[in-house]
Amino acid sequence: MKLLVVEDEVRLAQALRRGLQAEGFTVDLAHDGEDGLHRAREGDYAAIVLDVMLPRLSGYRVCQQLRHEGNWVPVLMLSAKDGEYDEADGLDIGADDYLTKPFSYVVLVAHLRALLRRGAPDRPAVLTAGDLTLDPASHTVHRGKQEIALTRREFAVLEVLMRHRGQVVPKSQILTDVWDSHYSGAENVVEVYVGYLRRKVDEPFGRTSLQTIRGAGYRLAADGG
Ligand code: CA
Repeated sequence: MKLLVVEDEVRLAQALRRGLQAEGFTVDLAHDGEDGLHRAREGDYAAIVLDVMLPRLSGYRVCQQLRHEGNWVPVLMLSAKDGEYDEADGLDIGADDYLTKPFSYVVLVAHLRALLRRGAPDRPAVLTAGDLTLDPASHTVHRGKQEIALTRREFAVLEVLMRHRGQVVPKSQILTDVWDSHYSGAENVVEVYVGYLRRKVDEPFGRTSLQTIRGAGYRLAADGG
C-alpha cells in the first residue's frame, strides 16, 4: 500500500518513511504543501499523513482543496500544538483523523491502520430544499443555478437547518452544532446569523424559507420557501 507523507521537518519525514517502510508500506515524501497537493492529485495513495504547518500551503488548505476537487483519500493530520485544533474545530475541512505532536510512532501506525481499514469516506450527499441546494463536500450553496457566497458560519448554520429541513431546530442545538461547546455567548448570535442568511438565500429571490418559530427555534421550509 502506498502512502504519502507531507512533512517539512526533513528528519521527522525520513524517520516516518523508514518506520512505515518497515511496516510494509511504500512511502512517498513531500516537504511543502504545494508539492504535497500536487503528489496527492497525481498519485494513487491509500492514505496521506499531512502536517498542518507547512511552507507554501498549509495542511488545512491542502486537505480542503483535495475535498473540493472530490478527492476522498483518507487524511491523517499532524498538528504541532493544541491551539491549531481551534482552526480545525470551526472548519469542516474533511480530515479523517488527527494526531498532536509529539506522538509516538506506535500510535501513528495504529491510527493509520484504523484509517486504512475504514477506507475512503463516502462523499457527503448534497442537501436540497426545493431549489436551494447545499453541497457539504465542495462548500457551495445554490438557489436554482445561482451560487450564493456564504461565510463559514453562515454555511454551517444553513447546513444544520437543511439537515433538519421541515423541522423546528432549537437555537441551543444550532449553537452547539456550529459554535464549539466552549462558546459562552448569547443565543442571540444565532438570530444574527439567521438574519444574515435571510438576506442571502431568501430576500434576493423573494422567498421566505427561513422561518422563526417563536419560543422554539427556526425551521427551514422543506420546499425551499
Ligand atoms: Ca511542519
